[in-house]
Amino acid sequence: MMHQKLVVANWKMNGTSADIDVLLMAMQKDSAILNQVEVSLCVPAVFLSNMRAACAHLPISWGAQNVNDKVAGAFTGEISAQMLCDVGCRYVIVGHSERRLYYGEDSPWVAQKWLAARAAALTPILCVGESLEEREKGQTLAVVMAQLDAVLKITTAKDFAHTVVAYEPVWAIGTGLTPTTGEVVSVHTALRDHLVKQYDSATSQTVRLLYGGSVKGDNAAQLLTLANVDGGLIGGASLKYETFSPIYRALI
Ligand code: PEP
Repeated sequence: MMHQKLVVANWKMNGTSADIDVLLMAMQKDSAILNQVEVSLCVPAVFLSNMRAACAHLPISWGAQNVNDKVAGAFTGEISAQMLCDVGCRYVIVGHSERRLYYGEDSPWVAQKWLAARAAALTPILCVGESLEEREKGQTLAVVMAQLDAVLKITTAKDFAHTVVAYEPVWAIGTGLTPTTGEVVSVHTALRDHLVKQYDSATSQTVRLLYGGSVKGDNAAQLLTLANVDGGLIGGASLKYETFSPIYRALI
């Protein structure tokens, strides 16, 4: 199955509501392009309730960068999947390496967040990726498959279908370093094959596999059009129109 490419912006803890408006205003001129490549903006949670109005005239969606694994209750400061749906989110990033590293999210916990997102009809973007040390020890595939398996073992083919997995080597995030095209293809093809083995070929083809880590305008065409790469997850370069638009423009 050929998918429309998906480009997801991860703003992390950056920007203001005015910065979002500036980006969206500039993106107005790309309306025709945005009908050919799917773009979603994962902005800080406090800005999400404004996105429905802010994006009203653009064919784009928005999403969150994290979600709580519980349905509701006494969890001060947390945000549920239902709340993200309420403000119109389509996607939620789960298991980003920064959350694994700085907030102690391990794979079983990430899997519970994934499940909560799916139960609320959000599309989770499950991030997987190895550290530099793991890559150097030859553990890349073992690490990413273990991160993926934590989710696969608690869900079904039906629920996993049409979700998104982002391969983000930790050492490539925000560093300007990227794997070689061969390294990206090898991980993405292994991820696809793993889904075929776990479920079946038809299910695996519904899952979009994004690459993330130092994607810029000048490497997007090369990295995001490789075999089994269905788009990208973009951090730093997604904050400004001048650096973000060349990335999705490279995919049409
Ligand atoms: C990310 O944080 O998901 C990411 C890919 O960051 P950057 O593009 O800045 O490397």
